[in-house]
Amino acid sequence: MKLVFLGPPGAGKGTISAIAEKKYGIVHISTGDLFRAAIRNETELGLKVKAILAAGDLVPDSVTIQMVQERIAQPDCSKGFILDGFPRTIVQADALARMTGLDAVVNFVLSRPEVVKRLSGRRMCKSTGKIYHLIYNPPKAAGIDDETGEPLIQRPDDMEEAILNRLDVYEKSTEPLIGYYRDKGLIADVDASPSPEKVFEGMDKALKAKLGK
Ligand code: AMP
Repeated sequence: MKLVFLGPPGAGKGTISAIAEKKYGIVHISTGDLFRAAIRNETELGLKVKAILAAGDLVPDSVTIQMVQERIAQPDCSKGFILDGFPRTIVQADALARMTGLDAVVNFVLSRPEVVKRLSGRRMCKSTGKIYHLIYNPPKAAGIDDETGEPLIQRPDDMEEAILNRLDVYEKSTEPLIGYYRDKGLIADVDASPSPEKVFEGMDKALKAKLGK
């Protein structure tokens, strides 16, 4: 199954991807995670994109498209994948259409105030990328990752100024993709406001209805 996860930052795409990856046995590809790994490892790509991510702006299409093209050509993607955070522009969506077909595009729906609330409480384990929330999904010990025992961090782009910029970028560049994919009959709308388990259930139902399984 080849899926794209669309929706504003903070809608839970990464969290639902982690559940769906296990349940469906397909690979989770998060372009944000790939960029953050490159920054952590101080690669050439990482140095190029560090300031862009911190500001909440978009990495240039050519760079992002090439990274995704290389990733989905890997053998582990042959059974299917979830593209989380890609495409984010019409140019990227056109490039993706030249690379592969898709089974469905899940549109996670969440209001702007709810997005801000979720992002400002989000915390992450720097080495594993595991996501927590101060209120909705706190770690067992405050500020510490449950598995690694490392201190949790706040993503630089989860600070208030970057959050507002990311939302503006989403509305301007990415939201038009909902219409783009709706016209192709690929969109499955999912309410992203309940708990992750409920959101996954809603998505699973919507996908089964859509794909006739
Ligand atoms: P995310 O983890 O999906 O919120 O992505 C974090 C950041 O990575 C974004 O704010 C962008 O700076 C960058 N990024 C991720 N995916 C893309 C993409 N498809 N196109 C351009 N920039 C991206």
